[in-house]
Amino acid sequence: MAKIKQMPDSLANQIAAGEVVERPASVVKELVENAIDAQSTEIIVELVEAGIQQIKVTDNGIGMVKEDLCLAFLPHATSKIYDVNDLFNIHSLGFRGEALASIASVSKVRIDSKVKEEASANYILIEGSNYIEEGISQARAGTSITVDSLFYNTPARLKHLKTIKTELSHSLKFIQNLSLSYPEIRFRLIHNDKVIFSSIGNGELQQAIANVYHPNIARDLLAIKGSSSDFSIEGYISKPTLTRTNRQYIHWIINGRVVKNYILDEVLLKAYGRQLMIGRHPIAVVSITLDARLVDVNVHPTKQTVRLSKEDELSELLKETVQTVLQQYNMIPSASDTPLPRLSPEAKVSNLSLDLQHHKDTEQRDLSDSGTYYGELRSALANNSGAVIEEGQALPKEQINKNDKISSDNIESLADAERNEKKLDFFSLRYVGQIHGTYLIAEGESGFYLIDQHAAQERIRYENLMNEPIDTNRQQQLLMPVIFNFTMSETETVNELMPQFNRLGIYLDKFGPNSFQLESYPDWIEAHEVESIVRDVSELLAKQPDLTIQQIREQAIIMRSCRGAIKANHYLDKQQAQALIESLDGLEDPYHCPHGRPVFVEFTENYIEKLFKRIQDRHEGGLYH
Ligand code: ADP
Ligand code: MG
Repeated sequence: MAKIKQMPDSLANQIAAGEVVERPASVVKELVENAIDAQSTEIIVELVEAGIQQIKVTDNGIGMVKEDLCLAFLPHATSKIYDVNDLFNIHSLGFRGEALASIASVSKVRIDSKVKEEASANYILIEGSNYIEEGISQARAGTSITVDSLFYNTPARLKHLKTIKTELSHSLKFIQNLSLSYPEIRFRLIHNDKVIFSSIGNGELQQAIANVYHPNIARDLLAIKGSSSDFSIEGYISKPTLTRTNRQYIHWIINGRVVKNYILDEVLLKAYGRQLMIGRHPIAVVSITLDARLVDVNVHPTKQTVRLSKEDELSELLKETVQTVLQQYNMIPSASDTPLPRLSPEAKVSNLSLDLQHHKDTEQRDLSDSGTYYGELRSALANNSGAVIEEGQALPKEQINKNDKISSDNIESLADAERNEKKLDFFSLRYVGQIHGTYLIAEGESGFYLIDQHAAQERIRYENLMNEPIDTNRQQQLLMPVIFNFTMSETETVNELMPQFNRLGIYLDKFGPNSFQLESYPDWIEAHEVESIVRDVSELLAKQPDLTIQQIREQAIIMRSCRGAIKANHYLDKQQAQALIESLDGLEDPYHCPHGRPVFVEFTENYIEKLFKRIQDRHEGGLYH
């Protein structure tokens, strides 16, 4: 029975209008979303020259009957909504009834489709919106749509396309995103006859993440789950130590739709708080489900943004859900979080990378995996995901390759087995000594700790400073007023920000066309930093005018606690070292410096015994004796 209807103008007029076919990836998007709406469990996307020459999407969904094949190409023809009420309760990815019509207007399209109940498949051919022919075909149940010569009749759009590599990367990214929101669907992306991405489709999100990123990453994520009366949240987030330089690795899936959402990004970052180093972002794949009536999808034709009702409630729930999990996750990084290679008997123990400096480097390095998506199919993907392995994993891998005896599968994290959940009693630690003028060694009940003295002191100073009350009225007079010269546009900004400056206790007086003078400063600033803080504050406020005094002060304090803390290569005597360790006790978060780096690393006894092969790892059974 035919299902597709052309919608009345009254409904069509209410739909976010706009061109959705911009590039091959937009065609891929529309066709694959149709396949998902048609309840497919397997979707194959085949591209020739990144889709510029040909795009073919084959699914095993419900198919279309013959009459629907012709109707599908009409503008505003859809089987997904019929009246205005449906528009506010959308359960499908599509609803605009525009995609096929738009695609067919700029290419040569053939659809083959078969519904289960009918004996044979039908096909239809359309070129530049013109009907060419239809007939009976041999296709299997489901639908296969072939789009040839995209933009053949709109040379201007063709000219706008980027390189093959870029166009392909858009499609790849899109399919990968979808595979994260539909772990139960098996996706395959084939480019010029080579499979460049496939997902298993076994319904498990963690598996889908492994397919998109890397099994090592997927394994290392923390599962989150939470719900309120309106929302339910489920997904995976990275530990605070596994981070990226940008937010591309944060995926929001709202009722099955992959969307960008700046507000949710911010809530997530806030939930990590200071555990995250400044400028770093977690990896996260989070699926949010809610009543379809609480989401407005009809905001933009590509539907990549949605409007949510009760955003505050959702933000609160998200924050709680993430924080619960992060709190449970051990705050003391264990040395065993860095996986050990299984060494062959010949391997030298000195190969082991227990260098803590590397721990730091790992975090500071940009591990972004913006690797090529194009070119050597598998290798591109292997590189892609290879680059995101934390160095700790990459390093042993290298050694193993050198030894060439054991496969990389033998690398595994001991983290779970070793995790120490309890809070540390710093007073019970026995100080052993200092190494490299940088790290303190202390022995505890269940192992020993390497403490980064600089990070520890930064943390202590930071918390002490944060606990001091702010009084913007208490002003210190400067002996000589400080003169600030700004550019014209800076002057404009400073003028606009004057009320905010005053709230912070900073009173700038006009001194010349583009200069100001400061005669006193508030107590929360230190004399030597007046100049830099006023400049920093104007930059900070220019970006985020509604920062509170607490937030600005916090930034200033982070900078200050870092500058004032003891550096590496500085000798501490026993009393100083012991005092430093004891000062960690009672801190809100003794585990991270204000930039999010670890303050100390734990080496459990168990881990040390494994290192020396005094005990066998349970997975290692009988490998080396
Ligand atoms: P929309 O998805 O917004 O309804 P489209 O132009 O993308 O609009 O598709 C029009 C109609 O064609 C859909 O409503 C659906 O009935 C049908 N259709 C398109 N692709 C498929 C497919 N792969 N399997 C089954 N039906 C499809
Ligand atoms: Mg559609």
